[in-house]
Amino acid sequence: AVVARQVHKAFGDLHVLKGIDMTVMPGTVTVILGPSGSGKSTFLRLINQLETLTGGEIDVDGERIGVREVEKNGKKYLQTLNDKEIAAQRSQLGMVFQKFNLFPHMTAIENVMEAPVHVKKMDKKEARELAEQELKRVGLGERMDYYPSQLSGGQQQRVAIARALAMKPEIMLFDEPTSALDPELVGEVLAVMRELADEGMTMIVVTHEIGFAREVADQIVFMDGGVVVEQGGPEIIDHPTEPRFKDFLQHVL
Ligand code: ATP
Ligand code: MG
Repeated sequence: AVVARQVHKAFGDLHVLKGIDMTVMPGTVTVILGPSGSGKSTFLRLINQLETLTGGEIDVDGERIGVREVEKNGKKYLQTLNDKEIAAQRSQLGMVFQKFNLFPHMTAIENVMEAPVHVKKMDKKEARELAEQELKRVGLGERMDYYPSQLSGGQQQRVAIARALAMKPEIMLFDEPTSALDPELVGEVLAVMRELADEGMTMIVVTHEIGFAREVADQIVFMDGGVVVEQGGPEIIDHPTEPRFKDFLQHVL
């Protein structure tokens, strides 16, 4: 599970997140909706510790991220985790971005093998088998030896998903994974995500794909101005109550 309590984030004077509470249960899909600048990416980046919290706390799998509580002389205080501990926490999460950021000089399978070999120190033969498995899972069994430049945007994004899955994360974070794709390539990426959801992966997905949200999400969270404005099951897409959410839906639908 991912549990966020009163999460705040400021960049200097800019208060981007103003007390976000959210619970994502294991095996469920949460879709975060919201206008540009509402803080969606910042929230995902905080979960993955690409940014540090200004206030509040986040638990991933029952463990508080970034800090631990220690007791000294009867007094409790927070101690920042070291780089190795943070890396261990981050390895529970897989993240997929709008831009796929594949290594251009490596083939699809080499891209997927990279982290298992260099981060997990897995031997190459084992990593290759794992990468094959993950590439087949995203429907790219026939494209494993292609370079990113030889793949469509949708195929590249599926390689990026396979690359994240190869690290065996507990939770997958998706930040507008289809926004950079030509419209005809969006469906194949959403189909892979839907399959992952069906397999029981815990997912947090920032997207403007309302159809995907309606059909796949267990929970919808609408953010605006750094706060959660409305939250509920997928039915809130068709029956929004907050005016700001209604207005947003009218613009994206
Ligand atoms: P979009 O839909 O456009 O991706 P978003 O909801 O993901 O928007 P964020 O990227 O989280 O929004 O940004 C929220 C606000 O925080 C924006 O005003 C942005 O300019 C600001 N911001 C994000 N990262 C930084 C940073 N590293 N330094 C300063 N300001 C930042
Ligand atoms: Mg964003």
